[in-house]
Amino acid sequence: MKRLFLLIFLVTALTLPMTPASVTAQDYGLEDGDDASLLMPGEAAAAEAEAAPQTGGSALVLAAPGRVNVGQPFIVRLTSDQPLDSVSFHWQGKEVVPSISVWNNRHIALAMLGTDVLKAKAGKEELSVIASIDGKENTFRRDIRLLSKNYPKQKLTLPKKMVTPPTEVYDKIKADRVEIAEAISTNSPQRTWRLPFYRPVEGKITSLYGLQRILNGKPKNPHRGLDFRAGMGTPIHAVADGTVILVGDHYYAGNSVYVDHGNGVVSMYFHSSEVVVKEGDKVKRGQIISKAGKSGRSTGPHLHLSISVLGKLVDPQPLFEKRVDDLLR
Ligand SMILES: [Zn+2]
Repeated sequence: MKRLFLLIFLVTALTLPMTPASVTAQDYGLEDGDDASLLMPGEAAAAEAEAAPQTGGSALVLAAPGRVNVGQPFIVRLTSDQPLDSVSFHWQGKEVVPSISVWNNRHIALAMLGTDVLKAKAGKEELSVIASIDGKENTFRRDIRLLSKNYPKQKLTLPKKMVTPPTEVYDKIKADRVEIAEAISTNSPQRTWRLPFYRPVEGKITSLYGLQRILNGKPKNPHRGLDFRAGMGTPIHAVADGTVILVGDHYYAGNSVYVDHGNGVVSMYFHSSEVVVKEGDKVKRGQIISKAGKSGRSTGPHLHLSISVLGKLVDPQPLFEKRVDDLLR
């Protein structure tokens, strides 16, 4: 009888209209058109069978991609039909405690994860998820296969002083690094990002993430962001709601803005001519935060954008093009 009731409940939940009256999908990082049932097609029955003995009859489903290219961001999502007391996702030695939302009677914990093209190697990595329901802990482990990706190479010849910074700025560069490391390690509890991200400028992308630059015959660190065409003074918009956590004046990045979007996601905007926000400001998705320029080590005006996920700089591009559901697969 209980079983039958659960089945009826599940069927009802899956066929309910998509939008509850009081909340908007965007509040949960969901967009209109996202899979509102929050179960992957064909997964509902399997999930019920799998999770039932573990949680006394509830459906608890972890959705995560089985394979991801090195450097690419992805989404993991835990869905439960019972209230989640707490959830933590563990990935490459870092932890994210996601905000929990309720959507069509489902309790949802969602996190963005990723790897950094600078350090990540192809191979298997374990994702573990600890979810507490009604005082009982459930642990999920899932292997995610990191696939190597051939990012393009670019050979450049530049005057030596453009490649090697003068010794008198070494201390400045060191101090900048400390400030940057602190900013990108921010892991605040309230998630404010949603997908897709807002495009910071209209100009086209001129340099991709992962590009391996060879300067004067020497391989340099890969490009860990996107460059956008942006003339001097072009307004630069925040990619998502958040809080300004750092306005920097750095040797390489010039005038730069760091915005915290919660749960370990930070966006970074470099080479501005002018910054129009200050540390502590709350910004909305699409709000102007700075104006494009060529401050720092830049050959001409443009916007360099990086996205940090738990301190790892991931490819920002899919975050402008994809929805949450796309990045779970
Ligand atoms: Zn760049």
